[in-house]
Amino acid sequence: MVLAELGGSISRALQQMSNATVIDEKVLNDCLNDITRALLQSDVQFKLVRDMQTNIKNIVNLDDLAAGHNKRRIIQQAVFNELCKILDPGKPSFTPKKGKTSVVMFVGLQGSGKTTTCTKYAYYHQKKGWKPALVCADTFRAGAFDQLKQNATKAKIPFYGSYMESDPVKIAVEGVERFKEENCDLIIVDTSGRHKQEAALFEEMRQVSEATKPDLVIFVMDSSIGQAAFDQAQAFKQSVAVGAVIVTKMDGHAKGGGALSAVAATKSPVIFIGTGEHMDEFEVFDVKPFVSRLLG
Ligand code: GDP
Repeated sequence: MVLAELGGSISRALQQMSNATVIDEKVLNDCLNDITRALLQSDVQFKLVRDMQTNIKNIVNLDDLAAGHNKRRIIQQAVFNELCKILDPGKPSFTPKKGKTSVVMFVGLQGSGKTTTCTKYAYYHQKKGWKPALVCADTFRAGAFDQLKQNATKAKIPFYGSYMESDPVKIAVEGVERFKEENCDLIIVDTSGRHKQEAALFEEMRQVSEATKPDLVIFVMDSSIGQAAFDQAQAFKQSVAVGAVIVTKMDGHAKGGGALSAVAATKSPVIFIGTGEHMDEFEVFDVKPFVSRLLG
């Protein structure tokens, strides 16, 4: 189920409830079941959905609501708050500061949109007057450096990489050093993704992280991966100190539920979303407007 449909389904469930003459236990349960179904179909993890349902029922204690209370509004507010809670891990991620050097390392599976997102992230900051730079520490995929180089050149962002060197740690360290010397304030390290979660990928990521000591590790996740989102995000979090999430491909047929699961698994906020293949199809992510839009 795509995001717009999810929002539609939740709104419909709430609307149906408010059409009922009396809002009793059964009407509330029917409404929550509809919402639960919609969230599951959007690939939100089962446990999250179940917890949410329990929380709402605890908050909206129908017996305690005196006559005259606007039950519909109270229930709507509870649904809104619970969705926000899933998307808000409670603490903001590290935020780089303009003019002060920060190293940001990107991790994620191959095909997730990691390299594209590195450039979008650099470009976004460059437009705001930062001095970003890109380091390609992906020596595994042939063509990775070319892709980064092409993107970086198009955006006029300095880049570092090598066709010859096969040690990603060495390249990462050299690139970070070089750009520190050049006083870049946002040094972005793109790492290898491989095609699936495998021990070698995680070990390599750990080594690059240890050697470059990033201020922030961003986990990039394709929004269409579905129910696998939670486990995938958790596996990355266990290997490197993921501090933020960027969800890509929120355009098209994205099942946005994966975003909710990734936040829960990494206890890190979503900071941006990717909404297309182009450099500027990139949006800051804010929980409340996102949920408001979702609920229509
Ligand atoms: P990587 O292997 O993780 O580095 O992934 P790439 O950056 O090479 O991206 C894989 C594919 O996804 C490319 O065709 C990108 O153009 C595409 N892509 C990346 N982000 C987005 C997005 O937000 N929306 C859409 N529609 N495509 C995207």
